[in-house]
Amino acid sequence: MRVGTVREIKNHEYRVGLTPESVCELVSHGHEVWVETGAGLGIGAADSDYEAQGALIKGSPQTIFAECEMIVKVKEPQAGERAMLREGQVLYTYLHLAPDPEQTADLVKSGVTAIAYETVTGPGGSLPLLKPMSQVAGRMSIQAGATALEKAHGGRGVLLGGVPGVMPGKVAVIGGGVVGFNAAQMAVGLGADVTILDRNPEVLERLGIHFESRAKTRFSSKANLAESVAEADLVIGAVLIPGAAAPKLVSRAMLGSMKAGAVLVDVAIDQGGCFETSKPTTHADPTFVVDGIVHYCVANMPGAVARTSTYALNNVTLPHALAIADKGWKQALRDEPHLAEGLNVHAGKVTYQAVAEDLGYHY
Ligand code: NAD
Repeated sequence: MRVGTVREIKNHEYRVGLTPESVCELVSHGHEVWVETGAGLGIGAADSDYEAQGALIKGSPQTIFAECEMIVKVKEPQAGERAMLREGQVLYTYLHLAPDPEQTADLVKSGVTAIAYETVTGPGGSLPLLKPMSQVAGRMSIQAGATALEKAHGGRGVLLGGVPGVMPGKVAVIGGGVVGFNAAQMAVGLGADVTILDRNPEVLERLGIHFESRAKTRFSSKANLAESVAEADLVIGAVLIPGAAAPKLVSRAMLGSMKAGAVLVDVAIDQGGCFETSKPTTHADPTFVVDGIVHYCVANMPGAVARTSTYALNNVTLPHALAIADKGWKQALRDEPHLAEGLNVHAGKVTYQAVAEDLGYHY
């Protein structure tokens, strides 16, 4: 199969659909891979790195969209890209169609076969193609919070790990799922005093077994949460209620109970945020202060570490990309029901129930 990847054109997107190493795998399976000039620059991969793995470098995305049977990307296609998609072509990327009627209509019109990373499932209803981005955001949240705690960034001047003879900083992680677990791992690694709050007893048990005495677990009742937030130097918001906006767990009034210069990192900002005072920020200007509390609310945290994020994403997307290229999409989906869950649009129809229902398409 001829597989193509293009330079991402969404604002501030530096990731790329295929790494040179992924190209090598596809080429070793007998496929041809076309890569747009400069597609990998955001992750430090030059055209020559791709060529060394057997890719053919093409100057224009038009050629790639016109000639390739499968397009592998990161972000949803932008309007100009959607105009180049066509029937019989496979698009394999993040789509997030439910809140995006315009994109959905264009994909339906194009006739493309669109497989969305975010709805590909794994064992036990997990979403393995979303997981690496949560891992990245969770780990980054501590790095971002530690920086915000520095005086020059408005924080209270606390080093999370402390030093011999000085107490470490206190970190409260609200939500012990993928983001929360990874945040706790980083905070524990730095030597901080870490408490993880969750409402799911099984999650608390799992965390307790994993961290033993290196982190405390606490049921996320209103009272427990208020106490942990008031004591913390750094609070990580990492909750998720599937299919719903994030619950506002820290109210503006609760900021008054916190230490001046404490930091809130709202990783759940992409679902509306779990602190009442959160509003989305960008990597260019990531923090703002409300009532003396520093807020970090970047909605696309993994974008800042594009290289790590791209490699983490390729680790989970490549096996399916290989299957689609080797067998053709129909057989690949027949053989792997988890991949079949990724099919969102095909031949002018919305084929994913939740998207069809949300946007009023016949399913
Ligand atoms: P997850 O489902 O793995 O974990 C969420 C956890 O929140 C679960 O363990 C759940 O029990 C817990 N929870 C729900 N209600 C709670 C409450 N009231 N108190 C305490 N815990 C509660 O989800 P995840 O993958 O860890 O993602 C967490 C959030 O981070 C999501 O909103 C996700 O979209 C977001 N995210 C943001 C970025 C970013 O760049 N900002 C990147 C990746 C993920």
